[in-house]
Amino acid sequence: MTEWDVVIVGGGLSGLALAVELAQPECAHLRVLVIEKRTEYLRDRTWSYWSTQPHRYSALERKRWHKWRVGFNGRHAVQKTRQNSTVAYCTMDADVFYAYAQQQIAAAPNVHLKMGTAVRDIQDGPVQTVLLDDNTSLRSHWVMDARPLKAPDANSLCQHFVGWEIVTSSDCFDDSTVELMDFQSTNTGLHFLYVLPYGKRQALIETTWMSAYAHRPDYEAELQTYLQDRYGLTTYKRVYREQGCLDLQSMPRTYVKTDGSHKRVSLGRAAGTLRSSTGFAFLETLADARRIAGCFATVPLADVRVPPYRPDWLDGWMDKIFCGGLVADWPRAPEFFLAMFKGVAAETLVAFLTGRPTMLQRLSVSLQLPKWHFLRAAHRALTG
Ligand SMILES: Cc1cc2nc3c(=O)[nH]c(=O)nc-3n(C[C@H](O)[C@H](O)[C@H](O)COP(=O)(O)OP(=O)(O)OC[C@H]3O[C@@H](n4cnc5c(N)ncnc54)[C@H](O)[C@@H]3O)c2cc1C
Repeated sequence: MTEWDVVIVGGGLSGLALAVELAQPECAHLRVLVIEKRTEYLRDRTWSYWSTQPHRYSALERKRWHKWRVGFNGRHAVQKTRQNSTVAYCTMDADVFYAYAQQQIAAAPNVHLKMGTAVRDIQDGPVQTVLLDDNTSLRSHWVMDARPLKAPDANSLCQHFVGWEIVTSSDCFDDSTVELMDFQSTNTGLHFLYVLPYGKRQALIETTWMSAYAHRPDYEAELQTYLQDRYGLTTYKRVYREQGCLDLQSMPRTYVKTDGSHKRVSLGRAAGTLRSSTGFAFLETLADARRIAGCFATVPLADVRVPPYRPDWLDGWMDKIFCGGLVADWPRAPEFFLAMFKGVAAETLVAFLTGRPTMLQRLSVSLQLPKWHFLRAAHRALTG
């Protein structure tokens, strides 16, 4: 078939999440194609997030924790939620999500996945033309575009990291508590180690930096040193490695036409679902897939309107001030986190970090931060 109702370019998190939504009975009238350039799905990342309520993929979570910790210079803050609370820190291996999404697509007669093919270009017209790298093309009424944005500039603020999942021969991790940020002293950015203990002998350990894109530390040496200094580990089995660099300042790709005829929509990170204060995009991306599918569910194709993704403006503004405050004083930045995690209840901080907090929750988190430092950051954010 060369003519489709919806073509999704990029079958990663956002593309597959949308395909799964369009595979539901409400959207069975749509002919949907996902075009993905990779030839197979492997575990290439681990999504972690604070869950506040169950979602379509909750059963795929590898583990949930009700306790997490941040530490710096011998001091630390621990936050807890009740064991039966819906608020928990969760993690999901990407390959499990990919396999589930592929199953859902295979079971839906209206949705198809084409792998091993990259989209070269998309051309506007009364119907969109999608040009593929095998020199063929296809046509679609709507195109949902999850292709990554261009690489950041050397000075762009990024969150970059390398993680190893290791297995040890004796117990050494406290599997009840996530080590969210174990800060290290530095003045070239914010540097912390992050430990997700899956069991007493198995954990994912990541060395994470928030700094300029051009700054590339020796991640592997940092991990080795941390494992030795913190856990006394010199021998362990490395079963998985992941690496990422998330541009925290990227401008989302927006396709907006003044004549109201725009039928291209950005998805995922390309649409701006990544939150710059946390580097998290997972739940927001799933929510956006539900929003987009909802636009198609109840109206005839010719009448469908899909507004572009819009993050909450206040969250965006507060994130800008927060990141500005960090960049202005890297050596003190760990103290800001410590103050926030010490000063407010877990549920309040989680509401703040996952979006849509109440004004009172925003205020109680903001009050933990040094006033003059962040007022100056707000002034800089306002004056450009
Ligand atoms: C290693 C790593 C760990 C992360 N951990 C977390 C986390 O713990 N929590 C969290 O919230 N976020 C995390 N993120 C950030 C974010 O959630 C992920 O990057 C997420 O996968 C973004 O979804 P996406 O759909 O925008 O991009 P992707 O999932 O990267 O999907 C884009 C897809 O487009 C395909 N593609 C690219 N070009 C073309 C083309 N021309 N034609 C066809 N297909 C194309 C790619 O192969 C890819 O499959 C992490 C990111 C990385 C890289």
